[in-house]
Amino acid sequence: MLHPWTRLNWMSDEVGYGVVATRFIPKGTIIWALDPLDQVFTSDEVKKFGPQLWPTLERYSYVNGQGLRVLCWDHGRFMNHSCDPVSLSPGVDFELTVRDLQPGDEITCDYSSLNLEQDLECLCRSPHCRGKISKSQFAKLAPLWDRQLREAVQVVNQVEQPLLPWVKERALLERWASHPDELPSAYGHMTRKRDAVTRSAKNGVPSA
Ligand SMILES: [Zn+2]
Repeated sequence: MLHPWTRLNWMSDEVGYGVVATRFIPKGTIIWALDPLDQVFTSDEVKKFGPQLWPTLERYSYVNGQGLRVLCWDHGRFMNHSCDPVSLSPGVDFELTVRDLQPGDEITCDYSSLNLEQDLECLCRSPHCRGKISKSQFAKLAPLWDRQLREAVQVVNQVEQPLLPWVKERALLERWASHPDELPSAYGHMTRKRDAVTRSAKNGVPSA
């Protein structure tokens, strides 16, 4: 579930839809959390959907650290990539803002942390744009994301948190706020299982 102070917005013909803030949202806000309406699929379930649905699923879902495909039920599935993302995950099922958002600011994450099956061309226009988005960038970027997350988590108990009921680790947040080095690493989001929902380059079939 995305934070209630967000909405779907047509960004441009080039980018399509995106998600923007409707009010000021401070750094350290839980901007997204997995909730019971989100759908989580195993690779076997994805295979059974058949090839007609795979491109749609690939576009609107992501693969988590357990190799499961997550399809958000709300406008969370329209969150765009930025090479300078405002929303980062400490390797668990929620994301934190790592800087303040003003009304109208786009809420972005970094697709290189989502276990992409294929590299993507990047249109983010950030001064730090990498030009392409690749899973191979994850390891290099994770230390930077961890530093940003550990700074943001220190104020997690000082800002409004409407998504708190959906955070499984909510009992730990107070601890992490005062001991940010104990926050899990963004690396937790990297799929370690080789049998994750990946698509064979040869035949376009998800392999398990
Ligand atoms: Zn970029």
